[in-house]
Amino acid sequence: MVYKRAKISLKGLVQGVGFRPFVYRLATELNLKGFVLNDGKGVLIEVEGEADKVALFLKRLHTEKPPNARIISQELEFLSPKGYETFEIKSSQKGGETEALVLPDLATCEDCLRELFNPADRRYMYPFINCTNCGPRFTIIESLPYDRPNTSMRKFKMCRACLREYTDPRSRRFHAQPNACKECGPQLYYWENGKVTAKGEEAFEKLTEELKKGKILAVKGIGGFHLICNATDEKVVSLLRERKKRKEKPFAVMFRDLNQLMEYANPTELEKALLISPERPIVLVEKKKELAPSVAPKLKRVGAFLPYSPLHHMILRAVDFPIVATSANLSEEPIVKDNGEAISKLKDLADAIVFHDRDIVRRCDDSVVKVVGGVPLYIRRSRGVVPLPIILPFRLKRKALAVGGMLKNTFALAWDDKVILSQHIGDIENFSTLKVFEESVRDLMRLYNFEPDVVVCDMHPRYETTRFAKTLPYKVVQMQHHHAHAVSCMAENGLEGKVLAVTWDGTGFGLDNTVWGGEFLISTYTSFRRFFHFKNFKLIGGEKAVKEPARVALSLLFELYGEKALSLDLPAVRFYSSTEREMLFRVWQGGFNTPLTSSVGRLFDAVASLLGLCQRVSYEGQGAMLVEDLYDPSVGDFYDFTLEGDRVDWKPIIEGILKDRQDPPKAVSRFINTLARIVLEVALKGGKEKVCLSGGVMQNDPLVRKIKELLTGEGFKVYTHQKVPTNDGGISLGQAVFGGLIDQI
Ligand code: ZN
Ligand code: ZN
Ligand code: FE
Repeated sequence: MVYKRAKISLKGLVQGVGFRPFVYRLATELNLKGFVLNDGKGVLIEVEGEADKVALFLKRLHTEKPPNARIISQELEFLSPKGYETFEIKSSQKGGETEALVLPDLATCEDCLRELFNPADRRYMYPFINCTNCGPRFTIIESLPYDRPNTSMRKFKMCRACLREYTDPRSRRFHAQPNACKECGPQLYYWENGKVTAKGEEAFEKLTEELKKGKILAVKGIGGFHLICNATDEKVVSLLRERKKRKEKPFAVMFRDLNQLMEYANPTELEKALLISPERPIVLVEKKKELAPSVAPKLKRVGAFLPYSPLHHMILRAVDFPIVATSANLSEEPIVKDNGEAISKLKDLADAIVFHDRDIVRRCDDSVVKVVGGVPLYIRRSRGVVPLPIILPFRLKRKALAVGGMLKNTFALAWDDKVILSQHIGDIENFSTLKVFEESVRDLMRLYNFEPDVVVCDMHPRYETTRFAKTLPYKVVQMQHHHAHAVSCMAENGLEGKVLAVTWDGTGFGLDNTVWGGEFLISTYTSFRRFFHFKNFKLIGGEKAVKEPARVALSLLFELYGEKALSLDLPAVRFYSSTEREMLFRVWQGGFNTPLTSSVGRLFDAVASLLGLCQRVSYEGQGAMLVEDLYDPSVGDFYDFTLEGDRVDWKPIIEGILKDRQDPPKAVSRFINTLARIVLEVALKGGKEKVCLSGGVMQNDPLVRKIKELLTGEGFKVYTHQKVPTNDGGISLGQAVFGGLIDQI
């Protein structure tokens, strides 16, 4: 009989997914000896025994691996047998470069749910139930390898029953690092009026009682606290808006299950699949029956999601209504994650706070997905997905840290063929978000033991992320904002050579010191040329114009009609008093604090204003969302437009909209159809087969549909985002690839 010893080193998603117990079971079943252990790179296995059994082991290692595991690479060596007598799971090896991938937080699995609601089970109604296939990961890991002492579960000593499961290779909790029960694990605490008033089951009962009474509660979850309340009770939802100082930005709603969700919304088959996926993102679905009117005011869609932690399941089964579940923070501040922080910051927002004693190591907001042009698009890529890497079809020349943009910030670490995008950090517009950004960069660099060769940031001199990059002790390169959008889209689609990138958004610092946002770039990974752009117009009052679509509309009207615009009978004009109007005209004329822009995002704002949909926005993108909702696919025609030199003239389009303004759906549909026509015309001039769509404007479903329809009809290949956001949450990917590939730094 021939004996063989195989040494196998696996990389990929192999830690925290039940890989070692699986190897143990497989090896013992095949009567092989040796060991398995987690190291900084992944999993290391040695098996020895009869040659055909070893061969079978190597095959089944791949075909029968645990559901959440993903093997990216395998190194295999055959050595002379050592005479191992047993097969064992050895303790983890530290040291060396950390390459093991960290798993995202996983939604509660079916097996755990069955136990959670089974009165005979020892974990009946225990809100921290989990197993090797589910539970927190990214938000509890302090360092690699992924073992209990390296997580925030370290402080809970397992009871005998839990330890038995943890050490029994036949148990589905064998080496489940967050394993716990009522006896030994984390507990719920109910805090009100300055003190803890209930614990455990009693705390849960109080929580649901108060929720039924119409109270607002702050509840600690997986990646931070949520503020929750009855989503069908207008009184409490509007109170929540008042306390949070959040005027109209929509709230997400958590439903008990798909059945309850379908009473209120009309999800498509694809949206249903996204809702029940283990990532459990918030999915934007069409409303059917109105929840409390101030949940998502004026919008056609609502952000819906299903429970993803045991506590969510318990809450939604205990009450008979869906709940608003929104990140617990004051407007524009980072999500709250620590108990002390919750008490100091949330005590005035919530009537009571429900926390637990398992620490959240890092913040992670809920992910948001919208189906655009028939494919799922991340509006926010965070809990449930982060930190899964984006795998590139090529290798980078060097390690890059990309610090991202300023709005919807994410940053990225990149090496070899991997880019790890951070969780959603948010808009870095104040001191507390800046602090969280800096902490988070240092945190992920430490977790992955990562030292970059280059740091990539935006060209905007006043972005806090740019300033931060320049304080780091590494070489810094700056990248143009829309080129970063373009490269991000190219990289996730693995495109080579030159593409035409249509990058439309609200704002991005341009090479000529104007504000870009209506760009057509001929782009490669490392260079670009501004091929076409929308004709510039003035932003009256700079940043103020971003918040007030009426200012953008006035600027376009001044351009078209000069001073005569002041007496037009239009909502944008009526929005201001006659003195204000005069003053705005003079500012527009004088050019002081009126930066030039080519932004298509702002054109959407102007259309929203001209059609009377909104004159001042209360959240970013509101104007564009209201416009999108009016699109009517049965309108096929479009407005005249002219391409002059390398510019698109928007004047005939605005004139067309003014003519149609009594019929907003018609005006909106023609406007969006025109934009798609423009893309086609420019694509025909550009002569590039591949066309990438990127930038925040490409979150617009009818626009992306129309562009795809027109361009594929003419033989173009159209590429959009699926792995990272098309908004500024995705530019760190483009920056990382640029920094990793350019010839010189
Ligand atoms: Zn489970
Ligand atoms: Zn226990
Ligand atoms: Fe952008």
